[in-house]
This record gives sequence, structure tokens and C-alpha cells, in this order.
Amino acid sequence: MRLSVRTRDPASFARTGTLSLAHGEVRTPAFVPLATKGVIKTLEVHEAADLGFDMVLGNTFHLFLAPGHELIARLGGLHRFMGWDRPVITDSGGFQVFSMGHGAVADEIKGRGKPSPAGPNGSRATVQIAEAGVTFCSYLDGSARFLGPETSMAVQAALGSDIALVFDECTPFHGGRDYTARSTERTHRWLDRCLTWHAEHGPEGQAVYGIVQGGVEEDLRRASAQAVAARATGGIAIGGTLGEDKDQMFEVVRWTVEELDSAAPDRPRHLLGIGDVDDLVRGVELGIDTFDCAMPTRIGRHGMAVVPDPAGRWRVDLAKGRYRESDEPLLEGCPCPACAHGYTRAYLHYLLRARELTAMRVLTVHNLSYLQHLMASLRDAIDAGRLAEAARAVWDGAAPWEMPAAAPS
Ligand SMILES: [Zn+2]
Repeated sequence: MRLSVRTRDPASFARTGTLSLAHGEVRTPAFVPLATKGVIKTLEVHEAADLGFDMVLGNTFHLFLAPGHELIARLGGLHRFMGWDRPVITDSGGFQVFSMGHGAVADEIKGRGKPSPAGPNGSRATVQIAEAGVTFCSYLDGSARFLGPETSMAVQAALGSDIALVFDECTPFHGGRDYTARSTERTHRWLDRCLTWHAEHGPEGQAVYGIVQGGVEEDLRRASAQAVAARATGGIAIGGTLGEDKDQMFEVVRWTVEELDSAAPDRPRHLLGIGDVDDLVRGVELGIDTFDCAMPTRIGRHGMAVVPDPAGRWRVDLAKGRYRESDEPLLEGCPCPACAHGYTRAYLHYLLRARELTAMRVLTVHNLSYLQHLMASLRDAIDAGRLAEAARAVWDGAAPWEMPAAAPS
């Protein structure tokens, strides 16, 4: 695996390049759609390629519980199982097991969280955290299950992903400095155990990404970035609690990238679970190469479309009554396959109210396509030396195909 950097933006950390993986190449910076349970919800996975995506993300935690990594391995691995022959990144399951223990970590990362009741070691009763790993109850049948560094790597080896992520603890925002410090140390010990396991048993061609933790403490984040960079990882992911709001989130990302830029300048960087339109632009400026996020697919299933409207957080809720008779198209000028059919907002509103599955599918296609066009335009802008202009256009409400240096659609 290697990242060949094509262009570095002189005014920021941004860069374009090509990530070469066992199942092909990923044009970076890139957004990675979620195929959490081996499917992009409402689509078939192969449709992501038609939308222009090079890689999808599978979820170790969910696939471990069902249908099980042994079955997927017997059926030829995750690529064959879900009908996708391009690159796949799998997360380690750490985020999911610790979310069960720490409450809604995802909400905390986005700054919506409240303190969650925690036991003396920061865990809830359903999850036991130990040095060996984490014991938890399956949400499917209540059975006790275990995931630790070696198990997570073994599951990802069986899935056969191009990129495996190491097993880490996703620390809660309200865990406090002492807990975050101890947890980050354990994440580094788990990183070593993952790399040891993978060196002996990992499949040929599978790259391993370490994960930087450290919460919102600057010294812990910087030290974690240095610790992960010092290990022989193929790439580096940024995980965990990133802050109370977006400004803090990107301050944490900046500390991390500043360390990585000197300690591991040529290794690819993945930002875990972040992917709003404004986040993608800021993340690209901060030198992130790949992003994954549930946003485009999740809001699509809730009746929302991604649109170039900064004041509306780049989304419009078509289930709202005001669209009942709207003759407007889903999004004027959008080159996506869903918009090509000219559906009106009134039609989509009606489908949503009637709970027709097609509405979710149309919005998922549109939302994913929007992010793909945004990333392609950002790549073009970096290559053309016009990233600052392109970012300003996004803040001013430009659609991806209206951005400076955007490729003709
Ligand atoms: Zn569209």
C-alpha cells in the first residue's frame, strides 16, 4: 500500500494523491460511503462505483455479530460477499463497543452529548473493559461477546479488507483528563498488540491504520499522534472525541496533523466519522486524505437532501409541509442520476409521507453523489492551486459543480 502525493497546496495542509491498495486505487482526498453491514443502505454496493466512489467502509462490529466473519470468509471474503471488487476499509469495532459503554459517543463528537452515567472505570454495566479487551452483550440475542485487539484483527483478516483499523478505545468527551490519559495509553498498547498479531497472521496486502486518540487535551493528542507515527502502520486514522463544537473539533484535528506532517508526512490520514459538507472542506484544508460518515445515507433515509445552503447546514427536509406542492426540482443543475429524472420536491415529499422506499433510495443517491462531486471539485481545485477560492465558494453557497476549477460535468 502506498500514497503517492500529486499536489501539495502551499497555503494549507491539503494535498491530492492516489492511494494504491490491494483492490485498486483511491483518488484522494476522498469521501468513503458506509457499507456498515455489507450494504449501502437502500443501494447495492456496486452502485457506489457508478456514483464515482473508489472505496467503501465495512463495519467489523456488525459483521462480527451477523452474519459472522467465519461465514463471510467461507464465502470468499467481504468483497465477494457484497459484490464489490474495489477497495474496502473496515473499522475495528472499538467505536461501537465503547459507544455501548460510554453512551452516545457519536453525539458527543458532534457536540450534542450530555454526560452519560458511568461507573468507576468509566464503563456501563453492559460493557466490561479490561486490558485484554471488551466484553459486551450482543444487541441481536443478548449473548456475551468479546472483542479485543487480536479478535478485531482476526475478524478483519477474515473479511479481507484492504485497510484494517486497529482496535482502540473511543474515549467519552466527559471522561475527564485522567481517564483519557490512561485510556490513550491503553490504546497505544492495543496498537502494538494489533500490529504483532497482523505481522504473524494478517493477509497479504492488507494495510493497517493506527488510530490517534487523546480526547480534546492538546498534549495527549500530540503525544498520541507521535506514538502512532512511531509505529510501522500503513496509515493513520484520527478518532475519538474531537470536541464540543466544530471549531474545537478542527483544532484537535490541526494539532494531530501538525504532528503527523513532520513525523509521518507520507502516510495517508483518515478522519473517522466526520463528513458534513463544511467538515469535508475544512478537513481537506487540514490535510485529511479520506473521510467516512453516516450523514449522507442516514439523512437521506430521513427525508433530507444535501443542498448548497450554508444557512440550512447544507440540507433541506423534504418531509416538511411546505414542499407539498413544490414544483421545484430536488436540486436545480445537479448532475446526479436521481436528479436526471427531474423529480419535483412535491413528488419526493409525497413519497416520503407515503413511506415509499424509493424516496429514501433517490435521496441516498443524490446525497452520495453530491459529496462525490464536492470531493472531485476539491481535488481539482487543489491541483489547480485554487483551493482557498473553492472553499470560499462553498461557504458562499456554491454547488460542487459551480466551484472554481470544477471539472465540467
Ligand atoms: Zn441530485
